[in-house]
Amino acid sequence: MSGEAFYKPHVRVMGGCGDCNAVQEMREAEPGVWVLEVRHDPTCPTYRRIVARRNGVA
Ligand SMILES: [Zn+2]
Repeated sequence: MSGEAFYKPHVRVMGGCGDCNAVQEMREAEPGVWVLEVRHDPTCPTYRRIVARRNGVA
């Protein structure tokens, strides 16, 4: 995809996890409310731990 808009309120930064090639994304959840999301690889052990905890498994 060419011509990616620089003014888009969307920032992607590599890193955020020591166990996978995660990327961090800043996004505006609500006007003026920014959240930093870490997107892990599906195979990431840290990510799996987070999901397990969220589901009440661990
Ligand atoms: Zn990870």
